[in-house]
Amino acid sequence: MYEHDVIVVGAGGAGLRAAIAAHEEGADVALVSKLHPVRSHTGAAEGGINAALRQGDSWEDHAYDTMKGSDYLGDAPAIETLCQDSPEETIQLEHWGMAFSREDDGRVSQRPFGGLSFPRTTYAGAETGHHLLHTMYQQVVKRGIQVYDEWYVSRLAVTNHDDPEARECHGVIAYDIKSGEVEGFAARNGVILTTGGPGQVYDHTTNAVANTGDGAAMAYRAGVPLEDMEFIQFHPTTLPSTGVLISEGVRGEGGILYNKDGERFMFEHGYANNVGELASRDVVARAELTEVNEGRGIEDEYVHLDMRHLGEERIIDRLENILHLAEDFEGVDALEEPMPVKPGQHYAMGGVETDENGETCISGLYAAGECACVSVHGANRLGGNALPELIVFGARAGRHAAGADLGAAKITTGKTDDTEPGEVETPVEPGAVEIGDEDAVADGSGATLVDPTRTVESALEAERARVEHLLEKDEGIQQAELRAKLQQSMTQNVNVFRNEEGLKQALRDIRDVREEYQDVYVNDPSRTYNTDLIQTIEMRNLIDLAEAITLGALARDEFRGAHWRQAHQERKDEQWLKHTLLSWNDGTPELWFKPVILEGAEKEYEPKIRSY
Ligand SMILES: Cc1cc2nc3c(=O)[nH]c(=O)nc-3n(C[C@H](O)[C@H](O)[C@H](O)COP(=O)(O)OP(=O)(O)OC[C@H]3O[C@@H](n4cnc5c(N)ncnc54)[C@H](O)[C@@H]3O)c2cc1C
Repeated sequence: MYEHDVIVVGAGGAGLRAAIAAHEEGADVALVSKLHPVRSHTGAAEGGINAALRQGDSWEDHAYDTMKGSDYLGDAPAIETLCQDSPEETIQLEHWGMAFSREDDGRVSQRPFGGLSFPRTTYAGAETGHHLLHTMYQQVVKRGIQVYDEWYVSRLAVTNHDDPEARECHGVIAYDIKSGEVEGFAARNGVILTTGGPGQVYDHTTNAVANTGDGAAMAYRAGVPLEDMEFIQFHPTTLPSTGVLISEGVRGEGGILYNKDGERFMFEHGYANNVGELASRDVVARAELTEVNEGRGIEDEYVHLDMRHLGEERIIDRLENILHLAEDFEGVDALEEPMPVKPGQHYAMGGVETDENGETCISGLYAAGECACVSVHGANRLGGNALPELIVFGARAGRHAAGADLGAAKITTGKTDDTEPGEVETPVEPGAVEIGDEDAVADGSGATLVDPTRTVESALEAERARVEHLLEKDEGIQQAELRAKLQQSMTQNVNVFRNEEGLKQALRDIRDVREEYQDVYVNDPSRTYNTDLIQTIEMRNLIDLAEAITLGALARDEFRGAHWRQAHQERKDEQWLKHTLLSWNDGTPELWFKPVILEGAEKEYEPKIRSY
């Protein structure tokens, strides 16, 4: 068994920042990651990092834009922390050597992004995430932080008290992808989940195949609530054939969207009369699909994004990567022709419920980055606000797990006097299928607390048994078939435009897949680099997360941010200024709500009609 003070699961932007921060507090910290750190999906981030750095801008304006962008579902203490800390964290990156794009006078460049009232997005060409990862990985190497890369974490070692909020997390169990060994990692202080988003729940996504939401699913089954899962961001500019992202930076630099009739529809059809293409992502994605649905799309599928008028010099200077993506994945020379684009799954606003210090309601268990919901993005994330979330809340979680006093959090986690029960009528019973739910909680031995070492040991035994079982079974159904079914149903039924029947159909499909999963088997019996085994374990996570997304979407009968319901096309503030939470209650998803916090440190954010 390995042992460290702090175990960070995941080595993307949030994980690397958390590890550096914990190390700076004097902790013995280790990163455990299924990918090598610089292969993490943060490396795909293109457009930039929002930070109020310039004269004329302020963190208060950034906070206002973020709250408005969230459609008043973000929590003010989290949003204010993000916007206050982002400038310092961004400058820290610069001091660590990050290659930001610069003006002629040497200042870090900033460009406009959707939903921002000031050009406050710092960037490194259109490869911001790549530079961010490399810069922080260098700091990890410099500090000698232990990295266990190509270790797949498949289970949390959590005590099995009946009341989830009385449970404690003492470590994780991981599978060494290189050797097939299953090992325990004990954490003396805490475990920080930074496992990224669940994009693979959908088949048209900008996310990598590794984005299977493992941390969120494991935390959910261990007893931590998932928050606001229905809010999935569909990015308006993805390449139709692959889902590869064309950065919002293109529109930030002046790129224009056209329909098949050559109309600049964002203005000409009145979707966003003030800022057009630079409205927030939910607004632009709906506009594009409306154009297609009303017969003004190209090949009934997509619209055009044109950047030719920006000129070759500016494009090469600021958006060179986009030229390569358009050429390599769509065969389009974007200096000569417009690029075809359509909305695709891009980001999960919801995730593991945490407070501003990254803590969950299970003692010793933290989460940060896209797998967490603190909540800064509410119903819709603004472009350029995820990367600052990684560095701001990654650092806070790292410090707190290492023992630093960050003061009491203003956001509460778990059930309190302010929370209320919820109900949602479902066509099939959601949740675990009776047999085979072997990893609902870490230790199935009874309802008493067990000591830390025993908790990790018993989780290790259970996980070794699960892996052996999967490798020994030699017939059944393969995960790839189930994954395709799940992804297709989610893409068809739980997309930008949602209706009750579609959501119910998705729940039926998810139930079918869950039942079939009981008969899943791994075709490849080998112990080294067995990606079939890993993807089979990931599949279980996709099922739980798809169901959580759909349950939240069915429960929320209003239109807010990225969540649009055909029969409920209005925001219902009196009823719905609250977060949706789902707890895995003995294998049955339990729905409940907690109020949104609109009270900031110095002012209350008043919900207004959102127009751009
Ligand atoms: C194409 C694209 C472009 C984007 N551009 C921008 C942008 O310009 N600006 C912006 O603000 N946001 C952007 N975003 C969003 C932002 O990049 C992501 O939200 C963010 O990078 C996620 O970082 P993370 O650290 O939470 O997760 P990731 O970077 O995805 O890292 C997850 C880590 O967890 C590890 N992991 C996962 N599961 C396990 C497991 N079971 N066991 C062990 N390790 C595990 C992985 O190996 C990886 O190291 C973009 C997103 C995409 C998809």
